[in-house]
Amino acid sequence: MTATLSGHCHCGAVQFTLPAEAAGVLACHCEDCQRMHGNFNAFLAAPIDQITLEGAEALIWYASSDAARRAFCGTCGARVLKEVTAAGRWLMSAGLIDQPTAKQIIKNLWEHSKPDWYDLPAVR
Ligand SMILES: [Zn+2]
Ligand SMILES: [Zn+2]
Repeated sequence: MTATLSGHCHCGAVQFTLPAEAAGVLACHCEDCQRMHGNFNAFLAAPIDQITLEGAEALIWYASSDAARRAFCGTCGARVLKEVTAAGRWLMSAGLIDQPTAKQIIKNLWEHSKPDWYDLPAVR
């Protein structure tokens, strides 16, 4: 297993790495995530100072609440990350991370605001 996981947006303008020991995939079913990702948001979280980011100038930031802001690629529109301001963490969208990740969904968040058209993903 490598020490880092790597990822990139669809067009490749934004590239990142995060520590492979980052906890497993979290799935957030809150309304903010639904509206911005088009469905639930699956992500891996890590402290900002443990994440390398190339192409940051391609990111467009959006304050999604008083406590968080999110960044998407200005060229391809890929949702790259959510910053939880007080926690100093970035939540990196799982779908952008190169395979294989050797990760599983370990927790669902905001289960009660999930829409009616899917069942919660299995947690392992
Ligand atoms: Zn892109
Ligand atoms: Zn959410």
